[in-house]
Amino acid sequence: MRVAIVGAGVAGLSCGQALLAAGAEVHWFDKSRAAAGRTSAKRAFDGHVDLGAQYFTARQPEFRQQVELWQQLGLVARWRANLYRYQQGQLLASPDDQVRYVGVPAMHSPWRHGLDSNNFTLNSRITGLEYQQGWQLHDEQGQSFQGFDALVLAVPPVQAIQLLAHDDELRQQVPDSMLQPCQAIAVKLAEPVRHEATAVFVKGRPLGWVARDDSKPGRQTAFQQWVLHCTPEFSQQQLTSPSHELVALAIAELELLFQQEIKLLDSVHHRWLYAIVDAGQAAPGVLISRRLPLVLAGDWCLGGRVENAWLAGRQAAKAVLHV
Ligand code: FAD
Ligand code: NAD
Repeated sequence: MRVAIVGAGVAGLSCGQALLAAGAEVHWFDKSRAAAGRTSAKRAFDGHVDLGAQYFTARQPEFRQQVELWQQLGLVARWRANLYRYQQGQLLASPDDQVRYVGVPAMHSPWRHGLDSNNFTLNSRITGLEYQQGWQLHDEQGQSFQGFDALVLAVPPVQAIQLLAHDDELRQQVPDSMLQPCQAIAVKLAEPVRHEATAVFVKGRPLGWVARDDSKPGRQTAFQQWVLHCTPEFSQQQLTSPSHELVALAIAELELLFQQEIKLLDSVHHRWLYAIVDAGQAAPGVLISRRLPLVLAGDWCLGGRVENAWLAGRQAAKAVLHV
């Protein structure tokens, strides 16, 4: 069986790895220049910075087992963050018992591990699909790819809807407004923040999250590096704001949180248009076409988070093997 997977984020990669293990041939297509989607660490400050997913938790037995394996391979480590929360003008310690993990040396390391680059077509945005005995895919540059028995769309809802022109029934089940944006800023500081916090859950401010990236295992750097995420609401309001304004805001917010002057050496900004699942909307589950060998998977199918993206990919693989 030859399977095409559009989208090489956690869901697409976990689906493909399960299919490879079951003996299928798998080919991934992704519009980005590297696999891992929203967990891709960005090249910045002479290394990598986690500008997307910050850490992950493992609650379901199947995913916990996988995380244990990655730990044994040195691809995942526990992040013992010094957690704080900021609310009503106060920065308070907020420790808990939750175990949090990160990929090592970068967030994308575990799910990229062991994959053969021949199985990937990157920098290829799929814009059209046809089914006649097998699947044919067309990308933005006019390239076509054919001969696939089954197709998995492991992309965010808006992008899935764009590709589902031929399948009204499936298209109507995709929740188009489920993913909210996130303006993400990383800063490299000339002088360290003098505070023990390495992560802050922020309430009632433009920022929702602040973390010291170099406090995560495998990321030690000469200068402190902080990642700041704006809330979905603020990100939506400031969707077209220029980078320099968002960086200035990030610095002002760090100064407010830690009550000290912050001296910037360098910065990087990334706008995630489809970032965080809106927890207020019902997750539809992995979607399976009744007419064609076609499955839809992604974090949004099971309610967001890295773990759910991985589990949705596994469920999609099972569905493909049974169509
Ligand atoms: P994606 O990672 O979005 O993968 C989809 C892939 O499809 C992408 O690589 C994209 O390039 C590709 N694609 C889309 N359209 C096309 C097309 N037409 N043709 C070809 N390729 C296409 N989760 C946590 O568990 N903990 C956190 O702390 C956390 N923080 C987050 C912070 C931010 C800022 C963001 C953005 C996300 C965060 N998440 C977090 C969520 C987590 O990153 C996601 O749940 C998970 O990575 C989703 O994986 P996915 O495979 O479903 O989707
Ligand atoms: P989790 O249990 O650590 O966090 C879930 C949520 O619970 C947090 O977003 C936070 O609001 C709250 N929380 C958890 N521990 C807290 C503490 N000690 N003090 C104060 N508040 C605390 O991890 P999870 O369930 O795996 O969730 C990860 C998801 O949380 C992500 O998908 C994302 O939606 C969200 N999240 C977003 C950001 C961000 O905006 N960058 C950061 C962390 C988590």
